[in-house]
Amino acid sequence: MSTTYLKSLSDEQIREFLDSFDTILTDCDGVLWLNVQKLFKTSDVLNTFRSLGKKIFFVTNNSLQTTKQFVEKCKNMGFIAEEEDMLCTSLLVATYLKELNFKKKVYIVGSEGIAKELAAVGIESFGWGPDVLNDISEVPKIKRDPEVGAVIIAFDEHLSYLKMVKAATYLRDENCLFIATNMDENFPGEVFMYPGTGAFVRFVETCVDRKPIILGKPEPYMSSIIKKTYNVDPKRTLMIGDRANTDILLGTRCGFKTLLVLSGVTSLKDLETWKNSDVPEEKEWLPDFYTDQLGDLLPFLEKYKAEKST
Ligand SMILES: [Mg+2]
Repeated sequence: MSTTYLKSLSDEQIREFLDSFDTILTDCDGVLWLNVQKLFKTSDVLNTFRSLGKKIFFVTNNSLQTTKQFVEKCKNMGFIAEEEDMLCTSLLVATYLKELNFKKKVYIVGSEGIAKELAAVGIESFGWGPDVLNDISEVPKIKRDPEVGAVIIAFDEHLSYLKMVKAATYLRDENCLFIATNMDENFPGEVFMYPGTGAFVRFVETCVDRKPIILGKPEPYMSSIIKKTYNVDPKRTLMIGDRANTDILLGTRCGFKTLLVLSGVTSLKDLETWKNSDVPEEKEWLPDFYTDQLGDLLPFLEKYKAEKST
């Protein structure tokens, strides 16, 4: 399959590209912003898309915050956003358990955002925040809650050995559900390498010899919720992301058009490697189009909009 640099397209091909979708699913970290830093012109691009009648959904594997908090963040950065446009993995966990009519308690290795989304659908949970051992002799004193019926592994800045002991102990019961928000391996920073949720999940998987259900990208649960709720047509949908093995792979699997931005995890060098690779899976990581940053679309969009209005 071919992957095309957006700026190499002719005016006519750009028009065709912009005409080819009505719905946009966009990742957030690495596409719209890096942590608290909004990336160049990203809100202008998305708001212009919206003004052209495109439907926009924010789809993120981030579970640190609730939908409400993500919408707040978007608005503070100048994006037009409503709660129903936002799908983060904290919400997915709550949606998933609600669909199962889950009545027990949840042990969370993760953040308060998940606990809040669970509380909003009437599910009790605990586990987020610091929780550490002084030494291993304290393990037998751990109080196990017999009401726990699910363990969630998500991003947890307070990850500890004690939390891993608790998660693994609950998961010894084969009726206890094992849920992971996502398998993102890491977040490469300029200097430091931050282990991601995928690394935590592998830790527990190895210990309990079980596989979790994974709710975030590239697994189709997130897009199945969107398809079900909003009735979108995959052929007229564009997936935008910065991480090929989650964002682009989800798009490829769902039959969406895909656009990779090089402002986050995946680099041009990665694309070159995969283009020449014999590994079939790596071919699925190649986007239809790529560009350096989302803001590159703004001049194209402004021209397109001006042509439409004449
Ligand atoms: Mg990202």
